[in-house]
Amino acid sequence: MDELVFGPVPSRRLGISLGVNNIPHKVCSYSCAYCQVGKSNKIQIDRQVFYSPETLTKLVEQRLKKLKHQDYPSYITIVPNGEPTLDINLGKLIENLKAFGLPVAVITNSSLIHRDDVKKDLLNADYLSFKIDTVNRNTWKQINKPHRELLLGECLNALLSFKKEYHGKLITETMLIKDKNESDGELSATAEFLQQLKPSIAYLSIPTRPPAFKDTSPPNEDILLKAYEIFNWYCLEVKYLSVYEGNEFSSSGDFEKDLLSITAVHPMRIDAVKELMLKTKINEIILQKLVDENKVKRIRYQNQTFIVRTFNE
Ligand code: SF4
Repeated sequence: MDELVFGPVPSRRLGISLGVNNIPHKVCSYSCAYCQVGKSNKIQIDRQVFYSPETLTKLVEQRLKKLKHQDYPSYITIVPNGEPTLDINLGKLIENLKAFGLPVAVITNSSLIHRDDVKKDLLNADYLSFKIDTVNRNTWKQINKPHRELLLGECLNALLSFKKEYHGKLITETMLIKDKNESDGELSATAEFLQQLKPSIAYLSIPTRPPAFKDTSPPNEDILLKAYEIFNWYCLEVKYLSVYEGNEFSSSGDFEKDLLSITAVHPMRIDAVKELMLKTKINEIILQKLVDENKVKRIRYQNQTFIVRTFNE
């Protein structure tokens, strides 16, 4: 149950965020080529009950009570290692979490926004991040590998109509993948759609963590710059989201518990793990023990060493 609430962790979008993981590991409507938590175990579009909102709320309450003032989060973020809108109790969960007096964010892949019940649930969130990697159906299938019954056009139209009703902060995230969505035509079409949607910020990102599919890699810096300029030309407030989020992971005092809960949804760079070890006065032997027990593993990616959680389902 501990992994259902994690952090607070530094978030590139939200400052310091307390994460809520409302979906079992890798149950998603997509199986993105770049997914940082591996290939989807189950690709589904039907909403269902996973965890009780009361249990999740209780875990958040317990975590908030233990935090020191300087570790208090700026957001409670529903950001599972799957698609959060698959949770049929999402609306109730958002309502419960708002009672803590902190803004509630949801990070979604946008795929179920055509459903009236999903729209209704999300309207109550304070901050929404929608994934829009492409508006090209073939590229969408290659990058996001959606459930076969999903329709990209339906999803994009539903997003435009949702935006008219939504009063919170809506941002978008576009992941750039080498040889997939980096052409001028692709980028212009995505930017043109975003211009209609009018997000507060259109984030551009690149894979910075080990991807689910090994042949997935980030574009070079020239492409990042080109994407920025194209998005900018369409009058979007555009920012890169590929900056490392820092090492300010909060410590509960239990290194193993913190490491396992954070890496369940968020691979950690080795320097961040070392800072966490320092905070709890733990030495490398404990980390090696977790590696030997196959609870975590070291992975090299883009000249960095990451500690990632191993799952034995
Ligand atoms: S990146 Fe997000 S939307 Fe894509 S497969 Fe992973 S959890 Fe699902």
